[in-house]
Amino acid sequence: MSRCFNFSAGPAMLPTEVLQHAQAEMLDFNGSGMSIMEMSHRGKIFMGIAEKAEADLRELLSINDDYSVLFMQGGASAQFAMIPMNLLGDKTQVDYVNTGAWSKKAIAEAKRFADVNIAASSEDTKFSNIPDFSDWNLNKNAAYLHYTPNETIGGVEFHWISETQGVPVVADLSSTILSRPIDVSKFGIIYAGAQKNIGPAGLTIAIVRKDLMGKTINNTPTVFNYKNIADNDSMANTPPTYAWYLAGLVFDWIKKRGGLTAMAEVNKRKADKLYAAIDQSDFYQNPVQLDCRSWMNIPFTLADANLDKLFLEQAEVRGLKTLKGHRSVGGMRASIYNAMPEEGIDELISFMRGFEKENA
Ligand SMILES: *Cc1c(COP(=O)(O)O)cnc(C)c1O
Repeated sequence: MSRCFNFSAGPAMLPTEVLQHAQAEMLDFNGSGMSIMEMSHRGKIFMGIAEKAEADLRELLSINDDYSVLFMQGGASAQFAMIPMNLLGDKTQVDYVNTGAWSKKAIAEAKRFADVNIAASSEDTKFSNIPDFSDWNLNKNAAYLHYTPNETIGGVEFHWISETQGVPVVADLSSTILSRPIDVSKFGIIYAGAQKNIGPAGLTIAIVRKDLMGKTINNTPTVFNYKNIADNDSMANTPPTYAWYLAGLVFDWIKKRGGLTAMAEVNKRKADKLYAAIDQSDFYQNPVQLDCRSWMNIPFTLADANLDKLFLEQAEVRGLKTLKGHRSVGGMRASIYNAMPEEGIDELISFMRGFEKENA
């Protein structure tokens, strides 16, 4: 067996130990004679798995009883519509912060339901920074404020949480959840697609403050109604059982490694190393302002874009895969979520130095 270092932005690497654990249980889960995939979601075995996964996530993020944890399908993209459908109530106005490609998608979807005020935007700097909070134009009548704490494509991350004087804060944490501790109590809703830092694609998790439920707009489909999902313990209809199980194994893996404080320490060290290697060279460049560089997604360009193809080919041979940047940005992108071992970063940096020496 040979596992590469996979820098994909998502679906992304999973911890090898987690995959091995799942492999060992694949055909016969715990003497049941069947795979998790083949079991009823309402049976005792799966209910136990589901409850443990939720309890472990609550422990990792210190989520208190004011919040429901929902296990859903549809990806973060479905949440772009579910947020306004579930939160507008009798309001019509919402605030959005535009810091990149994922913010824009969320905004486009919200516009189908609400009057969207762009409270702040970094579009004029090509999304290379985060607008100064003192310049934000917040609306106190907004049903909520939505932002994207980590822009997966641009590699821009908030290292702070905005204060909104009572307007609920809704955050798309798809690509940064579980990378470090966060204060959940500052948020109305946190949501994340699983395929970056939680588990396999197909599962979406939302952490929803209970008092925000029951404000759906008319005609909200039942399967998209947070309250209905919460009242049925995320089993109003068949949930993505296998993805839920795997997410549980990932939570367990994180706990065994010391929880989110330990993850943060490693993640910061990984990111610092790679940024240092980029900044120390004239050959590589990262466009993002220093104080909002992402710990998870690090885009970089080569001095000569004609070398991109060769870089990717040679990286692939070294077992450094999926480094091609997003089509809208070009260049390279290294996504280095929890499951990317520190050796993967060391190997990438060593490769980058060698490539520069030969081609600069
Ligand atoms: C990947 C990603 C999404 C989209 O996730 P889907 O599961 O494909 O819908 C949305 N927001 C952010 C920040 C992402 O990284």
